[in-house]
Amino acid sequence: MSAPDNTNVPDEVRARHAELCRELDDHSYRYYLGNPIVSDAEYDQLMLELRDIEDRYPILVTQDSPTQKVGAPISVDFAEVEHLVRMESLGNAFNADELSAWADRASAEVPVNAYLCELKIDGLAVDLVYERGRLIRAATRGDGRIGEDITLNVRTIGVVPEQLDESVRPAPELLEVRGEVFLPVEDFEKLNRRITADGSHAPFANPRNAAAGSLRQKDPRVTATRPLSMIVHGVGAYVPAGYSEAEGGWAVDSPESAPEEVKLTSQSKTYTLLGEWGLPLSDRYKVVASMKEVHEYVEYYQAHRHDPAYEIDGIVVKVDDFALQRRLGSTSRAPRWAIADKYPPEEVTTKLVDIKVGVGRTGRVTPYGVMEPVVVAGSEVEFATLHNAQEVARKGVRIGDTVVLRKAGDVIPEIVGPVLDRRDGTEHEFVMPERCPECDTELGQQKEGDVDLRCPNARSCPGQLRERVAFIAGRKALDIEALGYVAATALTQPLEPAEAPLSNEGDLFDLTLEQLLPIRTHVLDPDTTEPKTDPKTGEPKVVSFFANMKGEPKKTVEKLFEQLEEAKKKPLWRVLVSLSIRHVGPRAAEDLARHFRSMDAIRNASEEELASVDGVGPTIARSIREWFAVDWHAEIVRKWADAGVRMEDEGQEPGSRVLEGVTVVVTGSLEGFTRDGAKEAIAERGGRATASVSKKTGFVVVGDAPGSKYDKAVKLGVPVLDEAGFRVLLEAGPEAAENLRINPTEEAPEE
Ligand code: NAD
Repeated sequence: MSAPDNTNVPDEVRARHAELCRELDDHSYRYYLGNPIVSDAEYDQLMLELRDIEDRYPILVTQDSPTQKVGAPISVDFAEVEHLVRMESLGNAFNADELSAWADRASAEVPVNAYLCELKIDGLAVDLVYERGRLIRAATRGDGRIGEDITLNVRTIGVVPEQLDESVRPAPELLEVRGEVFLPVEDFEKLNRRITADGSHAPFANPRNAAAGSLRQKDPRVTATRPLSMIVHGVGAYVPAGYSEAEGGWAVDSPESAPEEVKLTSQSKTYTLLGEWGLPLSDRYKVVASMKEVHEYVEYYQAHRHDPAYEIDGIVVKVDDFALQRRLGSTSRAPRWAIADKYPPEEVTTKLVDIKVGVGRTGRVTPYGVMEPVVVAGSEVEFATLHNAQEVARKGVRIGDTVVLRKAGDVIPEIVGPVLDRRDGTEHEFVMPERCPECDTELGQQKEGDVDLRCPNARSCPGQLRERVAFIAGRKALDIEALGYVAATALTQPLEPAEAPLSNEGDLFDLTLEQLLPIRTHVLDPDTTEPKTDPKTGEPKVVSFFANMKGEPKKTVEKLFEQLEEAKKKPLWRVLVSLSIRHVGPRAAEDLARHFRSMDAIRNASEEELASVDGVGPTIARSIREWFAVDWHAEIVRKWADAGVRMEDEGQEPGSRVLEGVTVVVTGSLEGFTRDGAKEAIAERGGRATASVSKKTGFVVVGDAPGSKYDKAVKLGVPVLDEAGFRVLLEAGPEAAENLRINPTEEAPEE
């Protein structure tokens, strides 16, 4: 293979190179101001393309190329400041192999004996200078050499000391320290709510942009209203106490004659000193001896990415020893002794193709966005709810907009807002329909001031009925596996000439085979309630659901009948949930069932009696009274009771309610209980089964592969039981079980 011909760069490559440089510079600048118009993933993609061109045509690499420099050109809004020691960026690894390759390169040059692992905080880099312990200047990273003077703004950040703490040792003569300024996630959400409610600002797409925008305010009083925080992670210039610049060196090169304890000899030792001087440090960094442990740290935080109060976009690994750091040196933009292992982005941009509306089981009509499908946080997303018309207005999104889409962890994907700078005038406003998309009834508010519009036709709106029936079959209700979304559609909206076997859910347990066999139905997408199309014909997909080609019952219909029989025996709380009474979810239903023990008692209870039940309250109480007051609702309960659905819980003697007031979390799989079975056993004894561990949790029961809830219980000192202990808990109550806890009684120390 011949070497690339540097001198002969095709015109189109030269043009693309120039265009990419211009675009990347522009994106960097906007990002720096906290106002990017492309996602980080798109930016990284453009950078990769540029790198690829420069690898093929090295003659195009100049000092000015975005591949060679740090950050962005600085703006004219603030005074310029020259950093004492250059601020660098970080090299990236995008997977475990790239991380190992970095370590191999470093170890080939120097004998690395320890790595410091820490979180890559998604904020913005800030440089602080302390002279004899007093904060004299704070600056942005800028282009790494020159930043912007933001001293007044940084002084508003509570955790940044104005004066270093000298209680352990005197402050150094000079200390230049670097770190990340960020906005904690909770404060970011509050800030977005506040600025959109008072109309002072469009919502920020993420905490980083909010932090950048807040820190670069011209008026520090505005910055002071933004709860910014900071964590330090590096040092620039350093002169220990008692030395002068002339005697000592700059940077982390402490003078030879300086006492050992104030010499900055490693990253971790530096952190100890910075902590003593009162600078804000992370409590999550870890020094490890091997790459195996580095990978473990990376994996741990992949699974616990959302544990810290702030956002992280990866892990930073640094060679701990400063002598080795110096030997490894830096490239033009980043140190060779550190690397960022970057996470896949949780935020992308995509096109909002349409806003449609769907009707839910309680009649609420909800707009949702239809987007060009895009992968975010590892899964493909095409739809995202927009909740209600006010929410669409609040977010300011229009059909045709490029929007920021965010999916943090297990949270459902959210359209954050439009990228205003990418509008071209073809976008148009969404208009909330006035009539139900499924039954054409005029929509209304349930009461004045409600943000939600509802279809009042609860009894006959086919959309509402379909959603209610699908809900009855759900895991949180009667858990009827054979009654999925297509079956719910088939039972409520079959294609003609078959008639719908269900005109409301009252007849669910009286279905007959004759009613079901002729049914053909469209296959609806549960996310959009639109019919799916047949890829071959492009027509809406039609299936014969309960009968095979010869008109004989399919296995699924037999299963359906079997499972409906099973469902009749489910406990009272599940029956209650299945009625789709507003606000009555599994938790309230369990509380009601535990207290009243029968449907009759609930129906006959006054609003006050209902509201006085622990965990119920006035809203739920009113909703229950209103529900039973409707004739056709009462009829559903009557029909279900006639069909043999369980309407009371078998009475247990009060003495056997051994778990009254006790909260239990079950995690991992148990041999003798299904997850729901374990929950029911707890509820039947008056206890409450919950999903998350807190200080108030009475017991955590662990089966196989318990996961993070176990760790949390240990950390909080909550008693942990194995399956045998759980059985004792159910039989004999908390006191007997407490002796069988498998974790120590005292609280485990913090990591
Ligand atoms: P970077 O963000 O990938 O990494 C370097 C920075 O990480 C450092 O300057 C430091 O401030 C920070 N950092 C956080 N925690 C740290 C720790 N514990 N130790 C050391 N440093 C830590 O690189 P960059 O040069 O700042 O920015 C480039 C990245 O920014 C791109 O990959 C892209 O994701 C994003 N970007 C996006 C746009 C856009 O338009 N969306 C534009 C420019 C840059």
